[in-house]
Amino acid sequence: MSQPESAVQESTKIVKCPYCDKDTTITRPRDYAPVYAYCGLCGKKFIVERLANRIDIMTIEDAPSCSDPDRRAIEMGGSDEQ
Ligand SMILES: [Zn+2]
Repeated sequence: MSQPESAVQESTKIVKCPYCDKDTTITRPRDYAPVYAYCGLCGKKFIVERLANRIDIMTIEDAPSCSDPDRRAIEMGGSDEQ
């Protein structure tokens, strides 16, 4: 059995940028963990979170900490007492 090199298909999706409100293309997250995406027009970073049957787009400012990849990583990995 030979597997094609490009078995992983990048599925992209057009979404509305939460900052400039223009259509921009993102790469669909492969799982339900939120990821960052960059608007191709204004260059701003925003959050893309895949839900059961839709994609949620939010600004960094609006995202709850559980939907922010960075803060999420800190909360999940930070077991050290400060
Ligand atoms: Zn934008």
